[in-house]
Amino acid sequence: MLDAKFFRRWMSATAASVDREADRLTALDSPIGDADHGSNLRRGFAAVTAALEEEAPDAPGAVLVLAGKQLISKVGGASGPLYGTLLRRAGKTLGDAAEVDDEQFAKALRAGVDAVMALGGAAPGDKTMVDALVPAVDALGGGFASAAAAAEEGALATTPLQARKGRASYLGERSIGHQDPGATSSALLVAALVEASGE
Ligand code: ADP
Ligand code: MG
Repeated sequence: MLDAKFFRRWMSATAASVDREADRLTALDSPIGDADHGSNLRRGFAAVTAALEEEAPDAPGAVLVLAGKQLISKVGGASGPLYGTLLRRAGKTLGDAAEVDDEQFAKALRAGVDAVMALGGAAPGDKTMVDALVPAVDALGGGFASAAAAAEEGALATTPLQARKGRASYLGERSIGHQDPGATSSALLVAALVEASGE
């Protein structure tokens, strides 16, 4: 079973990983974006960790709803509302249970990813975070490590794609040949599940 502490560990592991990889995320956002993805997420997840320390929510759903709200209010870029929606919708789906099982978590994350696609209008293959998130949720039944591997693979597979959503889509064919920054950060988010679980 997964409790609030697990979800708090997930968020702090993500914050640490985003912090370590911020320069790389921003570098990926240079050729096909505006070079702010690393700093956007670093600011957002720092706010998430601070809010979680201050409020210490004691239900998994409440942890994710609080995290999502912070990302929506603290991150200016497209990714803030999208990641915020992912976590908020997942949190709402979990409700106020004190513990959730793997299957409930997988369902909630699926609802979150569906909400991202509804908000941003991106489908798999459009060269966005969706290209890492959808394979991750599909693989989640096999455990966190399989989800993390699927997300990483999905992120790498964005390189040859032409962007059809977000800022990178303005470049048309010139977006081909670059890995998508949001898919890369999504892989970090999913990899942090492994760290949080000690798997
Ligand atoms: P901005 O593009 O506003 O500068 P960021 O640089 O923080 O925001 O995030 C860019 C990332 O957001 C992209 O690499 C992509 O993965 C993701 N993204 C942008 N638009 C969409 C969308 N409509 N649907 C899903 N993901 C998107
Ligand atoms: Mg950007």
